[in-house]
Amino acid sequence: MKRQLVIGFVLLVCEFVGYCLGADGQKVVVIHAGQLFVGNSDGLLSNQVIVIQGDRIAEVGPAGSVKVPAGAQEIDLGRATVLPGLIDGHAHMFKSQALGLNPKVFLENSWQYRTILAVVNVKTDLEAGFTTERDMMSVGAMYSDTDVRRAINEGVIPGPRLQVATVALIGTGWGEGYGVVRFSPEVTAPMGARAVDSPWEGRKAVRENIKYGADFIKVFADKPEGTHFQPDGRLAITPSMTLEEEKAIVDEAHRQGVKAACHAWGGTPLRDSIEVGCDSIEFGTDFDQESLIKLAEKGIFLTMELANGKAEEQSDLKKTGGKYSRAAMQKATLQKALKAGVKIAFSSNPASGALDHGQQAKELEYLVDYSMKPAQALRAATTVNAEMMGWQDRVGSIEKGKYADIIAVSGNPLNDITELQRVKFVMKGGEIVRNDLSRSEQH
Ligand SMILES: [Zn+2]
Repeated sequence: MKRQLVIGFVLLVCEFVGYCLGADGQKVVVIHAGQLFVGNSDGLLSNQVIVIQGDRIAEVGPAGSVKVPAGAQEIDLGRATVLPGLIDGHAHMFKSQALGLNPKVFLENSWQYRTILAVVNVKTDLEAGFTTERDMMSVGAMYSDTDVRRAINEGVIPGPRLQVATVALIGTGWGEGYGVVRFSPEVTAPMGARAVDSPWEGRKAVRENIKYGADFIKVFADKPEGTHFQPDGRLAITPSMTLEEEKAIVDEAHRQGVKAACHAWGGTPLRDSIEVGCDSIEFGTDFDQESLIKLAEKGIFLTMELANGKAEEQSDLKKTGGKYSRAAMQKATLQKALKAGVKIAFSSNPASGALDHGQQAKELEYLVDYSMKPAQALRAATTVNAEMMGWQDRVGSIEKGKYADIIAVSGNPLNDITELQRVKFVMKGGEIVRNDLSRSEQH
């Protein structure tokens, strides 16, 4: 009797909304995947079926072995390769190529205007296939990144699932993490990050960030501004703070239950960041072998920004009489890191030079050019990043119970990684964001 009532309800709902709902009232969608990259293994599986109930994956398996629920909305991606939604491990919604990277950005643009640009940026990222992002700092816009996260989570605007850093921390320096212009000392200039100059200031800054909604803490252990090549070809990498200060920041983050992402291109900032237990290091650049071994041993994640290094290659060579470039250094570091078994996390650092929003998947091409296998690069942008964010239970692979964050491309990305620069289908949490591949049909 009860069963009949449920069926009656389902039929009724089918009529009104145009698709059927599961017994518990959730929409059921089925994707037919010609080829499937699951995310946690290297190969492609042929002819797979993904059943989605509400915002989660209910079932995945070979066609024939997975039952297609009656009345489900069916999406035919039979000629496509289906993959988990991509994750950008180092994103910047508050950086826009149109504004550039200089202190004038703060002087000429209100937080409100920059937040409007951020809303556009996250939509662009999502449509390019990035369904999750770790956003690395609000770049002077204080806690505005938490508002963008909230608007996405509440369905007000489209965008990836976000973890946000809010205000990045750095020792007093020039532009505090943004720009190389040195203002006159009497000018109180707006800064890209918050200057902290003692362990206690560091702990306080961490507590405030978490109070206002930071998901993790971003620290500049080095001062990226002014980094230059020394005569021996190594980079002069200046620490922004002492070991004691960085240790207090990372310890406080961990005490409060959040992770710490530490910007360190090499040298003392890198060694300090490893010692204090940073969870990820931002940007493998001038890394020594000993540090790489420690990164592997401690399971610390390493992000790269190869596109930006590549973009500066000619000017680096010009400055060093044709001898050195950050691009060559990054390539060597990546290859040594892979050999040492360091966990490489995909990151594009968008709108920081080479790649604008929506172009982040170009970084996959560099990872492959510099020696990663296509499947390995794809895992860096899916399962590895999910683990780095502590979200391995919800995103990063196409498995039962995870969010239905799914993308598709026309060709085979294991043969041609640039396919990811032409994402044709995007679904986030069971909702279709774009579909240039097929018309979905009702059965
Ligand atoms: Zn960054």
